[in-house]
Amino acid sequence: MEKSTLKIYNSLKREKELFQPLNPPYVGLYVCGPTVYSDVHLGNVRANLTFDVVFRYLTHLGYKVRYVRNITDVGHLVGDLDEGEDKIAKKARLENLEPMEIVQRYTNGFHDVMQIYNILPPSIEPTATGHIIEQIEMVQRIIENGYAYESNGSVYFDVPKYNEKHPYGQLSGRKVDELLSGTRENLEGSSEKQSPLDFAIWKKADKGHIMRWNSPWGLGFPGWHLECSVMSTKYLGLTFDIHGGGMDLLFPHHECEIAQSVAADGQEPVKYWMHNNMLTVNGTKMSKSLGNSFLPHELIAGDHDLLEKGFSAMTTRFFMLMSHYASTLDFSNDALMAAEKGFQRLMNANKLLEKLTYDGDDNNYDLSQTKEIDDLLDQAFEHMNDDFGTPQCIARLFDLSKKINSYYEKQLSINDLNSQTFNRLKETFPKIIFDILGLKDESSGNDNGAMDGLMELILNIRKDARDKKDWDTSDKIRNVLNTLNIVVKDGKEGTNWTIN
Ligand code: ZN
Repeated sequence: MEKSTLKIYNSLKREKELFQPLNPPYVGLYVCGPTVYSDVHLGNVRANLTFDVVFRYLTHLGYKVRYVRNITDVGHLVGDLDEGEDKIAKKARLENLEPMEIVQRYTNGFHDVMQIYNILPPSIEPTATGHIIEQIEMVQRIIENGYAYESNGSVYFDVPKYNEKHPYGQLSGRKVDELLSGTRENLEGSSEKQSPLDFAIWKKADKGHIMRWNSPWGLGFPGWHLECSVMSTKYLGLTFDIHGGGMDLLFPHHECEIAQSVAADGQEPVKYWMHNNMLTVNGTKMSKSLGNSFLPHELIAGDHDLLEKGFSAMTTRFFMLMSHYASTLDFSNDALMAAEKGFQRLMNANKLLEKLTYDGDDNNYDLSQTKEIDDLLDQAFEHMNDDFGTPQCIARLFDLSKKINSYYEKQLSINDLNSQTFNRLKETFPKIIFDILGLKDESSGNDNGAMDGLMELILNIRKDARDKKDWDTSDKIRNVLNTLNIVVKDGKEGTNWTIN
């Protein structure tokens, strides 16, 4: 260890006043992002979709949400353990690539899949490698507060010491005594750890380890749990509102995050923890080793033994929202077929609603009809307010779809509503479907008619130019459209356009 290095890091102590909590209407949301060393699977899609709906709904309620979702690009070891190869470095070695090439490739892939499922990007997407200094500083604070020790160039979190004052395992309902008796790790002899429950917050890099940084303890890299503690509190404050992630991260990852924050800064970091549950396939846990896990493109193409056909990204999104995020979600061809029909029903109802016009009388309307629609809309929101109850919210949308069909088929009269409720239905029904649940109508070219509207505008501007004999402008518009593969044809009955 070089003393000069230590000095530099000591001078970089965190100034607490820089980390102000977000006050209402601001909400801080942190979600554990992917370790970017392999293709995104459907479990990742479910996790990110869960918190996409949280993000969308809180935004809808008028909160200003700062949504932080990290990219793990170092420190996550094979088997989620303290010993072993870095997942990214291993992939890089197998493919004969630079680790950052692996990181870039799978980060791009992750973003592509998120976009396909209409999952919004977070406000900040920090990377672990971009926060090495902050991680070293946090390790130092934990050591200074007496909750970590250095051992042979690595630094371990002292779980038994921490547990003397703070309940380790509280979030996941585990107790240190039980954890100790359940451990099979044999610490006699060569181990660097004082207790098998201790976990690495900084690991010494051996010679073959390519991803490594200088630190007060020598060349090494941060422990996997550390980055989330560092990046969440850096951007959201020492205590923030919501921390999300998959159920598989509850222990030890999130338990360790709490311990690190309390040990370093004396504060519980999170007000509300949210964990989405697992995916199962025909009742069995979805896993790569059982051969029943799906990649998004296999599902879309129907390229899997368990599928009879392909299912679109929006069908899958809808299917996932039909289960509560905290329940397991069972995947099967039949369940997807049913979801596809349901999704289509909802999209059709929305199209019919767009066509409905109102010619009623506010002095003479049907009170019970009006109340029924208002109640269904109210209930849709009440279910969302109750721990993001998307399945019940969707059930109310189906109730409303039936009503809309009846109005369209004239079994009921839309004019029986008062104008306020009619307008509310017109506005709110699509708002829930598209803005809050984040679904898209795949049949409409996904632009809700924006393309038609834009082309009409552009061709009107061109017509004005031609009427004024401004050939320069008119030719320029045509040429630019040509470069976009949009062909404009002037005929006797006006101007047409097509996409080549
Ligand atoms: Zn995390």
